[in-house]
Amino acid sequence: MRILIANDDGYLAPGLHALVRACQGLGEIDVVAPEQNASGTSNSLTLGRPLSVFAAANGFKYVNGTPSDCVHVALTGLLPQRPDLVLSGINNGANMGDDTLYSGTVAAAMEGYLFGVPAIAFSLIDKGWAHLDAAARVARTIVDQALRAPRDRAPWLLNVNIPNRADADRLPRAVTRLGRRHASEPVVRQTSPRGEPIYWIGPAGDAREAGSGTDFHATAVGQVSITPLQVDLTEHRMLDAWRTTLAAGAVA
Ligand code: MN
Repeated sequence: MRILIANDDGYLAPGLHALVRACQGLGEIDVVAPEQNASGTSNSLTLGRPLSVFAAANGFKYVNGTPSDCVHVALTGLLPQRPDLVLSGINNGANMGDDTLYSGTVAAAMEGYLFGVPAIAFSLIDKGWAHLDAAARVARTIVDQALRAPRDRAPWLLNVNIPNRADADRLPRAVTRLGRRHASEPVVRQTSPRGEPIYWIGPAGDAREAGSGTDFHATAVGQVSITPLQVDLTEHRMLDAWRTTLAAGAVA
């Protein structure tokens, strides 16, 4: 069993180190993570410059690029063998609902999934690493159990969000769907020291769809949320309606 571990908070992040420690003994582990915090970079790949891979003293490899770069480089040339599993995290903060589209944590796992490798993204809900050790124990249990999923289910992509609690490894686990958020808060306009207008991206909006069955709901009631993800963004229910509106005579 070979496990590739990445993240988006960078190769020095406590969450990455905790996840690596938690997975000791489950297989041969390679770590390829971004040099710097790359949260919110989604699935971006660096195409305009070459990437460098550096080795840290503890054996972790780090890349001057995005989370997707790390997994992409690892899978397509850096690693001597294809991994059986790609893990990402543990992220400093939740990745639920629409946030998953922006998440570098989810993207690193998704890059593995896109190459046909089963993958899991782990996030600790509140920022600040409180109860990271308990979250790491949750991660290990889920990895261990997911590895025993039926072979014909692969590849798969799971998005796991873990409450910051000392008893996180004793919380019930719920398999959920993504909730939805309201639109983000407006950008925050300020003035730079040189008198120019600058803009901070505002915080994410509040949960809009957070009913029973969603990731927001599960974590709010003290459960570990596990959402199976797919990548097909097609709005299948609207294919016929748009064919009628936009493509009279279109091939179905
Ligand atoms: Mn992050």
